[in-house]
Amino acid sequence: MNAKKRLAIWNADIIWCHAKNILTNYSVVTADDKIIDVLPTDAAKNKYSKSIVYEFEKSIIVPGFIDCHSHFELTSLHEFYRYSNLFELMIASGQWHRNSSLDDIVKSCRVGQQKSINNGIVYSVDWVSCLFKKERYVNSKIVLPMLEIIDPLGIKYSSQKLYCDFDEYGLAPHSLYMVDMKTLSKAFAYANKLISMHIAEDSSETLWINKHCGSLFEHCKKESSISCINKYYTNFFDLLSDSFCASPGVIYVHGVNLTDCDLDTIKAQKSYLCLCPESNLALTGETVDFNKIIKKHIDFLLGTDSYGANYDIISNAQILLSRTDCDKYFLANKILNALTKTAAKAIGLENCLGSVEIGKNATFLIMSYNNPSKSKDVVAYNIITSGKIKKIIIDGEVIY
Ligand SMILES: [Zn+2]
Repeated sequence: MNAKKRLAIWNADIIWCHAKNILTNYSVVTADDKIIDVLPTDAAKNKYSKSIVYEFEKSIIVPGFIDCHSHFELTSLHEFYRYSNLFELMIASGQWHRNSSLDDIVKSCRVGQQKSINNGIVYSVDWVSCLFKKERYVNSKIVLPMLEIIDPLGIKYSSQKLYCDFDEYGLAPHSLYMVDMKTLSKAFAYANKLISMHIAEDSSETLWINKHCGSLFEHCKKESSISCINKYYTNFFDLLSDSFCASPGVIYVHGVNLTDCDLDTIKAQKSYLCLCPESNLALTGETVDFNKIIKKHIDFLLGTDSYGANYDIISNAQILLSRTDCDKYFLANKILNALTKTAAKAIGLENCLGSVEIGKNATFLIMSYNNPSKSKDVVAYNIITSGKIKKIIIDGEVIY
């Protein structure tokens, strides 16, 4: 054992792990920023006698949550006001992007980052982290820096910007209505792969691609020139496949009103659907048919989306739980996986995040836990419906 390593034993009543069962009377042992052991508490205290011991009663240790679609820069903008619909938000955030200084946006992102951490989110796929290039935030990591590309493709934008990082990750345009198809095709041809993209945020988007009409079509026509699609498409993937070759593992965001055919394509592509029900309901009054997503065994993730970090990822999980006729306990387990293990895999960080396991980052939450149960499904249900965060540990540091 390396004497220089700072050792800590984290003892809670229950540990959420990704084995079939939960662990009771176990401890997590960390050294610096890694988990080095998970073993019964008595054995841990013997084996690592020189450690700092943290004891938490009526508590559970769970992996930190991963938010697969956020907009930190909008946190301050949306802190005090809820927009009545998607279009109002798009106009306001467009103005905000155009009129704010980089400092203002950085400040808003910082507020968002802190709120997000307080909600137990240890990793965010943040659309506008492009503004920070590859800067890493203290304590929380913002992945997928999506750089603003202008010169490499010879494309210039005025109000619309296409964000991506070609060399390391691939392409992450925000949505169909932020970038015109011609540009998108060109960018797809250049990028290694597509990482993440909105599709079907509301039903008017479907109307736009099907019939070239409807409220989103009219909005885009008025606000930008991006209303023009030169063909009628019945499915989103027909449209997308005209422009790029889908690679596995893309994170498609929203997916409200997708056709069965689109959902089957996501499944066949081994891609993910990131659900943002709280944002959807606030902006459009509709959200995904969660029963269908479960029945089709789609790998889903969760995102906070439009109100920056003013939305809590757990309240999104609660909305999904309330909108299904499947077994709630079984589903709670699936949702908790979506927030942790599935998300870590989707962002390519399954070796360091997503579960409480030896070798992974010492990044986890200590949550209050009042209803002991031996059933993992019931424990998951209690975490989502009544768990309160007591402590947040990121890379071995107590940060909350
Ligand atoms: Zn978004």
